Amino acid sequence: MTRVQVIGAGLAGCEAAWQLARHGVPVTIVEMKPDRFTPAHGSPLFAELVCSNSLKSDEITNASGLLKAEMRELDSLIMRAADASRVPAGTALAVDRERFASYITDALEEHPLVSVDRREAVSLPEPPAIIATGPLTAQALSEALGSLPGLRKLSFFDAAAPILERESLSEERVFAAARYGHGGADYLNCPLAEPEYDAFRDALLAAQTAPVRGFEEGLLYEGCMPVESIAARGRLALAYGPMRPVGLIDPRTGRRPFAAVQLRAENEGGALWNMVGFQTRLKWDEQRRVFGMIPGLERARFARYGVMHRNTFIDAPSALSASFETRERRGLYIAGQLTGVEGYLPSAASGLAAGIALSQSVLGREPVTFPPFTAIGALGRYVSSPNRDYQPMGIQYGIIDMPRERFRDKRERARRVAERSLEAIRSVERTLRERRGVEV
Ligand SMILES: Cc1cc2nc3c(=O)[nH]c(=O)nc-3n(C[C@H](O)[C@H](O)[C@H](O)COP(=O)(O)OP(=O)(O)OC[C@H]3O[C@@H](n4cnc5c(N)ncnc54)[C@H](O)[C@@H]3O)c2cc1C
Repeated sequence: MTRVQVIGAGLAGCEAAWQLARHGVPVTIVEMKPDRFTPAHGSPLFAELVCSNSLKSDEITNASGLLKAEMRELDSLIMRAADASRVPAGTALAVDRERFASYITDALEEHPLVSVDRREAVSLPEPPAIIATGPLTAQALSEALGSLPGLRKLSFFDAAAPILERESLSEERVFAAARYGHGGADYLNCPLAEPEYDAFRDALLAAQTAPVRGFEEGLLYEGCMPVESIAARGRLALAYGPMRPVGLIDPRTGRRPFAAVQLRAENEGGALWNMVGFQTRLKWDEQRRVFGMIPGLERARFARYGVMHRNTFIDAPSALSASFETRERRGLYIAGQLTGVEGYLPSAASGLAAGIALSQSVLGREPVTFPPFTAIGALGRYVSSPNRDYQPMGIQYGIIDMPRERFRDKRERARRVAERSLEAIRSVERTLRERRGVEV
């Protein structure tokens, strides 16, 4: 049977390869690590989470939670790994990144239909293939992509938050609590009084940033805004943003602090903690100095500093169909953040959709479709609909078709959205299983 090439073993490529193999199609994954790394990757494992270890909300009444539920119905490898490597994070699904990536690497390397070719792809693959090389696609392939008729490349800037060592945090100031009052006391909190907040903000605004080639403030993606850029928007922008103290009571004072920095566990043992919402492009010594002004972080050791990078994505509406296939070259698909879907799970979901679509095409079967009232279908429609000002998009209700009925409140509507969408996804999965001859 025809072997499919999947270029890039990130979130999207791994999910795509898994779905192809799950439907009986042999796959070769081409991954350039560990010979070459992008500026944000550093582990030889597949599906490396380059920044936060949070995959966002796991509540079904949230668009991101709905996407996860849909992916679980379709036996997503990324969701299997996430569920198996979960660390406490309230209602969010956060993972131990090492265990998460190892689970995925092992599952693919051990799969009899999957082979792995560790090299850099420098030209466009022959179809059938899926390109999922991410926002930091290596240069030669990125240039080759630009040669596809009708395909324009765009870009924005993205930043990662620092990770701190637990042992270096000062016990007297930091306290455990839930995030925004939901879930267990899974977050560590550094409370700031008003004068501490003002002094911190002043230092942040005056701190030196690292030069990033071609960086322009206008090209920042709102969801990954560096903390210093948020601070520049106004005195209280941080206090209402990443430093919002909602639901927090400082046990030392018995009162809600003026602001707080939250830390989320990075790994199962809780040795490493991520500064939530603190993506930054400050120089490294400035990160030590300025973030060291935060109560509890005076002696913080950085396991990883915050960094910023240019991200490439394609003008997908001019090039892709809703199944992530290029219009100009049948059998060639593009998936992941490179298409302008934004974030770990939406990237993986696009790989899932592309993998299923290509598997059915290779097997000579009718396409299956994900309706636009499902989260997966909504992403496919977003990347393929005409849009003169195309920008990266995560999963949110704004792009999912809503039911026409009237609802008492948003939660009831969200439950109905989930019910309708999961019914449709289960029906897709039943069709796929029937075609594979698996008992349903
Ligand atoms: C600095 C930074 C911080 C981010 N922070 C977050 C965050 O906190 N939360 C979030 O949800 N999203 C974040 N993102 C977005 C994140 O990249 C995507 O959500 C997700 O990783 C994209 O998945 P992907 O599979 O498309 O690409 P990736 O996960 O980047 O995978 C691409 C893979 O392709 C490989 N590759 C690249 N070029 C080639 C080539 N020519 N040949 C062979 N292999 C190649 C790479 O080595 C990599 O393994 C961040 C991105 C960056 C760059």
